Amino acid sequence: MTDSIDKGDLAALNASFQAVEARIASACTDAGRERSSVRLLPVTKTVAPARLRAAHALGYAWFGENKVQEAQEKAEALAELAIDWCIIGHLQTNKARHVARFAAELHSLDSLRLAAELDRRLQAEGRAMRVLIQVNTSGEASKAGLAPQDVPAFLRELPAFASLQVRGFMTLAMASDDEARVRGCFRLLRSLREAARQDAPAGLAFDELSMGMSGDFPWAIAEGATIVRVGTALFGERHYA
Ligand SMILES: *Cc1c(COP(=O)(O)O)cnc(C)c1O
Repeated sequence: MTDSIDKGDLAALNASFQAVEARIASACTDAGRERSSVRLLPVTKTVAPARLRAAHALGYAWFGENKVQEAQEKAEALAELAIDWCIIGHLQTNKARHVARFAAELHSLDSLRLAAELDRRLQAEGRAMRVLIQVNTSGEASKAGLAPQDVPAFLRELPAFASLQVRGFMTLAMASDDEARVRGCFRLLRSLREAARQDAPAGLAFDELSMGMSGDFPWAIAEGATIVRVGTALFGERHYA
């Protein structure tokens, strides 16, 4: 990864952040929501550290990564900046100890085994971490996350893990142009949150709905997203090594 960014790239980055911000603002207006009720999480997988530094200079201080090793390398490369690292991809239990060291937030909690291991490692580090529970709202076999019907029982186990600060839910909608079906995924996540607010154990908070990516974030905002995870629309197409 090169560690420099030229003026043209900087201008393009600036323009794409502004364009996404404008679309978020307009989706909030359309939905009758305050702009401050939605946070943009820039997704930086495959994006070089120099471009993250540029995004940080634009005022963004948290980034989403889906691979632990890549996130860790960037956290080290950018150690002089105050950045909250969010792990948003499926996490294998054996990677929990790495995540416990440096990440601020995990959007992909999807098993009790992972919750237990992460809690244990966090206790050892003397840290806590915000977590969102990933739900498979599309029913697609390729997608990670709890089945919706398994969520209530899962929530009942979470108070045992004192270092996990439960904040809400995350999902990936069906990859489709069909607005009704995509929005149906987002609506399901929101209804799970409403149910959780009524029934869940004390001490857990369910304010966050992390949903919406480059292709569908305006629909997610219409359905109540509080965090939109946007990569391509900010940084361009990803180039995998
Ligand atoms: C890559 C990724 C995103 C961002 O996707 P874009 O379509 O590039 O905006 C969002 N969420 C997760 C979990 C991802 O892995």
